[in-house]
Amino acid sequence: MRIILLGPPGAGKGTQSERIVARYGIPQLSTGDMLRAAVSAGTPVGLQAKSVMEAGGLVSDAIVVGIVADRIEEADAKRGFILDGFPRTVEQARALDAMLSEKGIALDTVIEFAVDENALVGRIARRAEETAARGQPVRKDDTPEVFKTRLDAYRKQTAPLSDYYAGTGLLQTIDGMKAVDAVTEDLVASLDRLSAAAAS
Ligand code: AMP
Repeated sequence: MRIILLGPPGAGKGTQSERIVARYGIPQLSTGDMLRAAVSAGTPVGLQAKSVMEAGGLVSDAIVVGIVADRIEEADAKRGFILDGFPRTVEQARALDAMLSEKGIALDTVIEFAVDENALVGRIARRAEETAARGQPVRKDDTPEVFKTRLDAYRKQTAPLSDYYAGTGLLQTIDGMKAVDAVTEDLVASLDRLSAAAAS
């Protein structure tokens, strides 16, 4: 199954992807995680991405499309993948379409998490507190100031993807404001319906 999870920062895409990875035996491909790893490792991509990420902006399409193209070639992604945080612009969505059609494969669904943006700042603050309490390093972009810039980038550059994928007939929307377990249940129900339909 090839799935895109769509939603603003703090909507729960990362948490929910982690929960469904084992169930469907496909990896979570988070461009944010891949970029953070590149920054920590000090690779050329990481060096270019670091300051943009810390300011809450979007890394260039060329960089991000390149890392996704490489990653989906890896063996564990052959049976499918969950894209988390990519695509983030209509340009990236077009690049993904071209990349997949070149490989003769297609997306199965795009699941959008509908959330109340006012609640997201609180969620991000909690994520930072919980991470710190576990003794792990807190993301530099999980501060209320940078979060506003990330949300702004989402509204301007990523939200148009809803219409883009609605136009392809792939878009499904789930209520991301429910409790974490209830969102997982809804997500699994959608994906199970899809795999049952594909198998029949
Ligand atoms: P995330 O972990 O998805 O919230 O991403 C953290 C940061 O990584 C974003 O604020 C961007 O700076 C960068 N990033 C992640 N994915 C993308 C993408 N698809 N396009 C551009 N920048 C991205």
